[in-house]
Amino acid sequence: MNEYDVTIIGAGPAGSTLARLLSEKYKVLLVDKRSLEDFESTNSCEKCCGGLLAPDAQKVLAKLGLGVPKEVLTGPQPFTVKTIDFDNDLERFYQRHYINIDRERFDSWLVSLIPSHVQCRFSCHYHSFEDEGDLLKLRLRNGDGEFLVKTKVLVGADGAISRVRNQAFASAPQPEKYGSIQEWFHTDSKVPYFMSIFDQSITDFYSWAIQKENMLILGTAVPAENGVKEKFEKLKLKMKEKGYNLSAPFKRRGTLIFRPTKTNQINLGNSKVALVGEAAGFISPSSAEGISYALRSAISLAESLNSDFDNFSKLYKRRSKSLKRNIVLKNLKSIVMYTPFLRKLVMKSRYLAMEVSE
Ligand SMILES: Cc1cc2nc3c(=O)[nH]c(=O)nc-3n(C[C@H](O)[C@H](O)[C@H](O)COP(=O)(O)OP(=O)(O)OC[C@H]3O[C@@H](n4cnc5c(N)ncnc54)[C@H](O)[C@@H]3O)c2cc1C
Repeated sequence: MNEYDVTIIGAGPAGSTLARLLSEKYKVLLVDKRSLEDFESTNSCEKCCGGLLAPDAQKVLAKLGLGVPKEVLTGPQPFTVKTIDFDNDLERFYQRHYINIDRERFDSWLVSLIPSHVQCRFSCHYHSFEDEGDLLKLRLRNGDGEFLVKTKVLVGADGAISRVRNQAFASAPQPEKYGSIQEWFHTDSKVPYFMSIFDQSITDFYSWAIQKENMLILGTAVPAENGVKEKFEKLKLKMKEKGYNLSAPFKRRGTLIFRPTKTNQINLGNSKVALVGEAAGFISPSSAEGISYALRSAISLAESLNSDFDNFSKLYKRRSKSLKRNIVLKNLKSIVMYTPFLRKLVMKSRYLAMEVSE
């Protein structure tokens, strides 16, 4: 049975960045159920994601010495956000610096940067672990069937619906659960802006629309118990009334978003099982932007493991304090964004708003 120092479940931005930054002195295994080997040939976005790189994510990539290759980009590149506020019947444009990407290619590109001393297993599912004292025994499955490996440290980088987190920390506090749906519609129109849509009768979070080549993606995140599908249909109806052509969706994807409202809902794990990225609960509670958090938490964990393997857990908690503070600040920002009266004041004032000819 193969034995590793660190086994990472999930090769999203968090897992692949961690794998890339871990010291060569460790024997590392990276496992993902997706096939992410060849970023130049992937062209379908299977991950339920808006695929916008926000300035925070751009900054972390810059700090990592990385620039996004052109194969990862998609169009149009939006320079503005159109804010549609159904609660107050207002619309405004604001300048924003997003980069529009093909999310599947972005993940595959990050995987392509992983050094060869890391062993990667794609199309391989993590099933469960057993604690055997000094080591954890992991049950994995690929096309050939089930196999076992042993590891000193298991890292859950397996996203919002983290199996690792659910198995290791079943009774830990959970962030607020939202159901998210995105649908893709063919469009001949040009929608050169990102749309953020506010409507309390649909969700206390927000909905969005973004163009990717000849597709318009419409998405929403609704409290999980609140009839997510019905609310999505209502959103579509309202957007159709605004003149957007949303008939015959090309495809639909759904997932969960765990929106952290308190810092005790962020779970970094323990000395044997660590959590990073969305598995740890890191995602912006104001915008659902998660790529920057995935990258930053992976950097913190890699630095902690590289500097003191036996005490990495304590170090990781210390190094993640600023990220947790950032979640607190985003929750404060949410109060203004998601209280219709306060949002109305801001939008009515036209503060930072710009005129755009449509
Ligand atoms: C609808 C929606 C829109 C979003 N839009 C944006 C956006 O525009 N910009 C932004 O910055 N963020 C966005 N986010 C958030 C962003 O997608 C996540 O925060 C980010 O992907 C988290 O990265 P991660 O590496 O932690 O996890 P993920 O990217 O979710 O990666 C987890 C990986 O684990 C693998 N995995 C899971 N379970 C197993 C298993 N059992 N065995 C093996 N492998 C497994 C998965 O295949 C996946 O590759 C959005 C989220 C949603 C839901």
